[in-house]
Amino acid sequence: MRYAEVSVNSPAAQRRTFSYAIPDGLDVREGQAVLVPFGERVLQGIVLELTPVPAVEDTREILDVIGSEPVLTPSRVSLARWISDYYLSPLFDAVALMLPPGFERKAISFVSLTHPDADTSSLNDDQRKVVDIASGQGRVELKQLEKALGKKKASTVVSQLVRQGILTRSYELGPVRVKPKTELYIRLTDDNLNTSKLSIKQSALVDFLKERTVPVPWAEARQKTGCGKSVADALANKGLIAFYEQEVKREPISYIDIQTSQPLELTADQQSALDSIKSGLEKPGGAPDVFLLHGVTGSGKTEVYLQALAVAVKLGKRGIVLVPEIALTPQTIKRFAARFPHRVAVLHSRLSLGEQYDEWRRVSSGDCDVVIGSRSAIFAAQPDLGLIIIDEEHEWTYKQDNSPHYHARSVALKLAELTGALVVLGSATPDIESYYKAQRGEYQLLELPQRVVPSAGAPMPQVEVVDMREELKAGNRNIFSRSLSQAINEAIAARDQVILFLNRRGGATFIQCRRCGFVLRCKRCEAPLSHHIADDVLTCHQCGYKAPVTDVCPNCNSRQLKFLGIGTQKLEQEARYTFPRARQMRWDSDVTTGKSSHEAILRKFRNKEAEILIGTQMVAKGHDIPSVTLVGVVSADTSLNLPDFRSGERTFQLLSQVAGRAGRGPSGGRVIVQTFSPEHYAIQAAAGHDYASFYEQEIAYRREFHNPPFTRLARLTFMHTNDAICQREAERVKKMLVEEGDTRGIAGIDIIGPAPAYIHRLRGRYRWQLILRGSGLSAFLSPVAFPRGWAIDIDPMALVQ
Ligand code: ADP
Ligand code: ZN
Ligand code: ZN
Repeated sequence: MRYAEVSVNSPAAQRRTFSYAIPDGLDVREGQAVLVPFGERVLQGIVLELTPVPAVEDTREILDVIGSEPVLTPSRVSLARWISDYYLSPLFDAVALMLPPGFERKAISFVSLTHPDADTSSLNDDQRKVVDIASGQGRVELKQLEKALGKKKASTVVSQLVRQGILTRSYELGPVRVKPKTELYIRLTDDNLNTSKLSIKQSALVDFLKERTVPVPWAEARQKTGCGKSVADALANKGLIAFYEQEVKREPISYIDIQTSQPLELTADQQSALDSIKSGLEKPGGAPDVFLLHGVTGSGKTEVYLQALAVAVKLGKRGIVLVPEIALTPQTIKRFAARFPHRVAVLHSRLSLGEQYDEWRRVSSGDCDVVIGSRSAIFAAQPDLGLIIIDEEHEWTYKQDNSPHYHARSVALKLAELTGALVVLGSATPDIESYYKAQRGEYQLLELPQRVVPSAGAPMPQVEVVDMREELKAGNRNIFSRSLSQAINEAIAARDQVILFLNRRGGATFIQCRRCGFVLRCKRCEAPLSHHIADDVLTCHQCGYKAPVTDVCPNCNSRQLKFLGIGTQKLEQEARYTFPRARQMRWDSDVTTGKSSHEAILRKFRNKEAEILIGTQMVAKGHDIPSVTLVGVVSADTSLNLPDFRSGERTFQLLSQVAGRAGRGPSGGRVIVQTFSPEHYAIQAAAGHDYASFYEQEIAYRREFHNPPFTRLARLTFMHTNDAICQREAERVKKMLVEEGDTRGIAGIDIIGPAPAYIHRLRGRYRWQLILRGSGLSAFLSPVAFPRGWAIDIDPMALVQ
């Protein structure tokens, strides 16, 4: 007998596998999807290991395999185990990241009579009832018996009858969630049809079909002939034409306006970066290299990626390219598709399940040289993986904020180790941790210090920092400093375009009573409510709660509520008032709800349908708008003042990115940053385009305050509707963890807290958190049993959540 360790799709399975015996005649391999009995149910599972001996004595048998081929390769099996071990997530959740889209299905249980004329004389009433129901039909769904006898009784009686050999169980997977897509086609049944007896419209349709030599989709025929469905139906009823369904492949990339592009002649810096990557790819065996490609926006990183991918393809390998979701625009996809026509797969969350499914099938069958996608594309079933590229590697969106809380960069590094693939991390503002590793020689640092300048003279834009305290002193209470308004006026006069950046949505960002100081808050989260101007409601940015606008203070009944703070909507209003001659557009998540509205906004702005574009960080990311000559950062302080050790890094990254939007065209650019903390090192360094000096200061602080990369963090959050219970549970767990450390002799782990989370109450539940600091946190926490309500985040991106 052989045995399999199976990861079972049940929340009860948590982080462990279960041992099952493999029945004779069933071909079961590692990575294979199977059906297994689990308690009273039948569930999907994935075989993670084959063993000669089971982990437990009593094993049940695997019922069947799902599909003849394994769905996971051995390296993906190891990757799933690592994710579960490291991020302490349920094993099947980790496995599920790599399964084909729509794979997860319920199994349906059936029973049938083993012999049609079974001897039922010795059965009791319940048993006979079941047999009667079963004998009326070929097989019955277990659910139907449960309805007739009650859940518990049905399951006992069925088990008895199965043991006596009277009933046999069988299983079937529930309905498929994704199917190949089909379209309605239309054809003539007889080519020599005489049209003389037909109506004008009918004969027009017939004539159209006669002329066509390839299969005709009905939608096309309708459009070209102007005939409605009733015309076609009438012909179909006479048997003259027929409708039929035919499979069509969903291809997210439209190649209609994509022309194949040739590799550009590289600059010296690009060439030496490519040479290093090339020799890494050609290196036989050994630990795979990791490269950190540090280059300002427009320095030609993407061209290096493209040529590195071409090298990998030449060597018979394939690549995965990760980009932040927001940067996954048709523009980006086009650049890759133009270099590798029809050999690129796209994976991101805006694809329909069907599109994801078709792309997954293309990738796993080896049809694509390059997979490009957001975070989860790292799990694509790309065979012969040789190169993983993570663009904008510092982006926080690479971390998943629900379970499994994985970071795509950490996963990529692990996957590279398992498959021998090489990793290229690219950024204009590398994550402090990545740059630290490059400094220590763990990664190879590749530098592209200059912009590639297609037209002569487009250096990095000049950045001016405006001290808003001085504006107040000078009597300017406007949100636009004198410098910024003057620059905007000049740009408008020169028919140039302007971007105004403010990292806060909405109108007023809080509403306070001038008499008693009361601030209006969300009933469920206690977050201050902000005012949305367009639909004139008060809303909570954490949970979406909406309340009508009021002018009466709920606390003291005075009519002195004042709308304070400024978000993008309010900024838009102010800008209209101050610059009445300029047309404006706004770009934030309040206006981009549709599938392609990011593109629509960008296109309009590129077509110069507005002079001023106002936006949150969306405007900062990865878009080339050549005619923008001025970028105004309305307040650099929103991210600077968050109580988080990464606030300096975050601010530096944001400002650098925003600044990178200016001067992408030949006329150069200018950036104005407004702040109440002009002396802050993050602002100073961003203004000077000086990553090195930012890094020196930041790494010194990290060392001094013992923060990553000098240690690791874990955030443990407990949620409960009752604040006192929540606090007590957090205190209890802290005590337990301290004792755990003592008994296991583990030293060097700090446990900070418990303290209320930064967002103390979210959607009606209070949150308390513990922060753990030290190394080996996953191993420390792994054996600890946490009750329901706890969430564990290893390597959290932010402590203020
Ligand atoms: P990044 O990815 O660093 O922002 P890109 O690769 O997008 O930079 O390059 C910026 C611009 O410069 C693009 O328009 C690109 O086509 C162009 N470019 C890149 N490398 C070269 C080169 N070697 N010669 C000419 N133009 C280049
Ligand atoms: Zn009041
Ligand atoms: Zn809320």
